[in-house]
Amino acid sequence: MIDLEMSSARAPTQDVGEIPSAILPPDLRQAGLRFVAYIDTVLSTWPEECLNCGANRFKLMSPEHSVWGLGRFRCLNCRHMRSRLTGSPLMQLKSPDLWSSAASLWLHGWNAGDISKRFGLSNNCLLLDWLPRFSEVMAEREPALWHWWHAYHDLLEPSLPVHIAAPADEALAALRRMLTQPVERCVACGSIKGRRRISNRTPTQGCVFECGVCGHSTRSVAGTPFDGLKSRHLLPDFLTLRLQGGTHSDCMRQLGITVQSLSANWEPAMLRWLGQRWPVLPQWIAWRTQCRRSQVVRQVRANTHPRQPFIAQSNAATAHQGTPVTWPKYEV
Ligand SMILES: [Zn+2]
Ligand SMILES: [Zn+2]
Repeated sequence: MIDLEMSSARAPTQDVGEIPSAILPPDLRQAGLRFVAYIDTVLSTWPEECLNCGANRFKLMSPEHSVWGLGRFRCLNCRHMRSRLTGSPLMQLKSPDLWSSAASLWLHGWNAGDISKRFGLSNNCLLLDWLPRFSEVMAEREPALWHWWHAYHDLLEPSLPVHIAAPADEALAALRRMLTQPVERCVACGSIKGRRRISNRTPTQGCVFECGVCGHSTRSVAGTPFDGLKSRHLLPDFLTLRLQGGTHSDCMRQLGITVQSLSANWEPAMLRWLGQRWPVLPQWIAWRTQCRRSQVVRQVRANTHPRQPFIAQSNAATAHQGTPVTWPKYEV
């Protein structure tokens, strides 16, 4: 259910290599495209420099050398031999025809499971072999991109980047308005005359506008994906936690709502609602979830007997404004 919702929120996959990734800050999107283009063309271009003397002029000795056309090049300066990939993190990585598509989807926030399924590779192969190598190439070729990616992917940077914080603040404000303010006019007749009330006894019912002309009652959440959800007043906290990369288990611990209800009802409703006006936010949430999951996997792998996590203490409602979130660590 969640996965389907997330897939539909993603960028189209055709020619995805030419579409800048929206989860990257605008000033790093070109670096993202350059990174993918490098991986795409590394097997069809000449080496950039001799690993022995640093010279950049070569003679192609045997074009067909090795299975992927790695070629053998001789440095015109020191006669040192090298192939296209000598010294590269991509050396001996299989299926070179899939590299750039996989790297591009990775930059678009796809998780290892979805990428491996798409290309018929094993999840472990992608997670333990491909992605670390891509990361190395990124560090070598586009250090600025790598610093940003590393900080967010490894959850070292708690605050939202500006290009996500702006739509996130808008979405949170719209959500709070919907939950605390009655609508402006009657949905049945359009009249603005009537009684606006906020139910104090059952706050989850939210705000109602009772039309003074036709008598129709309009609830603020009527017609939104959130209609029918219980404990709606927790929606802004839920959104804040999800934007920070909190998993459904994290949200359950902080909000007291079951994981089943979160994944079956809350998540699809939230992604649908966000997707209507802020399509980058569902993408960001999918990516942050993946980052958080790989953190948990790393922590569990580092420790074969994980202890029950403790509750994170930070204030969920203000976390997106820069308060560092301390996610529970899975360690002894
Ligand atoms: Zn040389
Ligand atoms: Zn009316």
